[in-house]
Amino acid sequence: MTVLDDILSSKLAEREAKSQLRQRLSLQSSQANQVVVEGQKYLNFSSNDYLGLANNSETIAAVKKQLDKSGFGSGASHLVTGHHEIHDKLERAVADYLQRDSAITFSTGYMANLSILQSLAQKGDLIVADKLNHASLIDGVKLSDAQSTRYPHCNLSILEARLKKSASNKWVVTDSVFSMDGDIAPLDEIAGLCSKYQANLIVDDAHGFGVLGETGRGCIEHFSLSQSDLPVLMGTLGKALGGFGAFVSGSQKLTSYLVQFARPYIYTTALPAAVAAANYFNLSLIRDNQSFRTKLLQNIKYFKQQCAAKRICLLPSQTAIQPLVIGDSKKLMELDQKLKQKNILVGAIRSPTVPSNSDRLRITVSANHSFEQIDFLVEQLACPIRV
Ligand code: PMP
Repeated sequence: MTVLDDILSSKLAEREAKSQLRQRLSLQSSQANQVVVEGQKYLNFSSNDYLGLANNSETIAAVKKQLDKSGFGSGASHLVTGHHEIHDKLERAVADYLQRDSAITFSTGYMANLSILQSLAQKGDLIVADKLNHASLIDGVKLSDAQSTRYPHCNLSILEARLKKSASNKWVVTDSVFSMDGDIAPLDEIAGLCSKYQANLIVDDAHGFGVLGETGRGCIEHFSLSQSDLPVLMGTLGKALGGFGAFVSGSQKLTSYLVQFARPYIYTTALPAAVAAANYFNLSLIRDNQSFRTKLLQNIKYFKQQCAAKRICLLPSQTAIQPLVIGDSKKLMELDQKLKQKNILVGAIRSPTVPSNSDRLRITVSANHSFEQIDFLVEQLACPIRV
């Protein structure tokens, strides 16, 4: 055994002993409401493909067309020759859809969040962050030279107390929809505090974009927030949009600044043009056709009603993320196994992704699910929980 083997073995054994060892499933089908793993068909309640667009046939046709035009590899970073005209089209379309000045696309949401925090928050600044923010925001804070402090989840009086501290610039950072709880941050009140204490608000709308608001424009529509209320808006393209990648939207100055200073943007290969084309196509789909979102909202409502009828106690969430907290990782993994035996896949989320003793099923509802599929899931959730 090498020294490295020793280090790795003890860390892996530690995880295993806590029932926290993760495993990857290898899909043999496309991402859809039913997926195939090891030749077995499963009902899929674990993806972030909320509007059911990841496998949309019209989008596939649009991607094929783009592949013929531009090939599949982007070949370089955006500042070398990886930036294609379809990126410009996508960025303009995102900004227009959100009725904001400008947008810049990123290869992943993780990198978008690293970029925002690394490049904007400087030495002498103060970052004030919600404790349940996504890992990419937490890691972005680590990458920045600013000081940082966290406030208990959505606790506005503690947020306000933190904002009373002096700093060259203050940044408040929060998810809009929390990825593991599905609840929505009170962004109108948070924006009010930012204005009172001259802090800049940064919001990760990964799970709100395409879902929240009257027409799916996300948290800014849900809370009627202007660009000055919320100057730095990040969203991902791999969830409701069914594609891959992310964007940051705000003023022209903001996006120009990120092009110059955001290291996770500058030093990475650009999102392939065909992927940008898929995102562009799906954005026009959700802009022009509300039926995907209407179906998603019906499914969320139906799922919650059926769970309530069977006394299945979900966390309070109006979004597609519907968590069922089990608490203990062993019990959670047993339940996960039972669901798999019934050919159902649900995200089993354990510590450290969620706080310890709050291990949970992260059930995600999609526009593509039928009521029958939801009924079947609820039946199975009700049985093992009663025993
Ligand atoms: N922010 C949030 C809230 C997320 O849930 C995720 C992905 N799970 C990300 C950022 C990262 O996005 P991506 O998967 O595009 O890297």
